[in-house]
Amino acid sequence: MTAKDIITIPNPLLRQKSQRIGHIDASIEELARQMMSATLDWEAQREHEFGAALAAVQIGQMYRVVVVRHDFDDKANKEFGVFINPEIVKYEGQPAEELEGCLSVKDLYGAVKRYPKVKVKALNLDGRPVRLTATGFLARVFQHEIDHTNGIVFVDRVDDPRKLYRLEANGEFSPIAISERPATNPPAE
Ligand SMILES: [Zn+2]
Repeated sequence: MTAKDIITIPNPLLRQKSQRIGHIDASIEELARQMMSATLDWEAQREHEFGAALAAVQIGQMYRVVVVRHDFDDKANKEFGVFINPEIVKYEGQPAEELEGCLSVKDLYGAVKRYPKVKVKALNLDGRPVRLTATGFLARVFQHEIDHTNGIVFVDRVDDPRKLYRLEANGEFSPIAISERPATNPPAE
């Protein structure tokens, strides 16, 4: 799997809910491996960006599987955690806005409100339950990826189009024109 296998908006799959995994077998392990290789290949082609995580829907596989990089500060560390049927069981703190990007939204970044602390429940590749408390950027990553499993893309949570920016070739952000704004599909809640 390569960066070319990553689907981007407005592909309608990105607005669909993914299925829960009932039985974890070798095909799920293979799916996770493909997600990791697609993320790393994407990152290798993006000078100013980091491939922090990916949800299976982003390679067109409608399953609730998410891979999250072990170390967000070190591109040389190519290890990931695999989270199956991930869900947030508790939100804590006051939501705050930060710029967020997505491998499925080319060159666009937007300010999205996320909780600073979440408790996540999932299964690992052995089928064992895992529970973790995520804070800061990791908390943001889980909220973003679990949104993907529910058919929500970050641009759907940008409440004001003026909070969207284009990542320029020099690595700087610039405001975007009205004609460049992507169609959004605001979540129901
Ligand atoms: Zn994303």
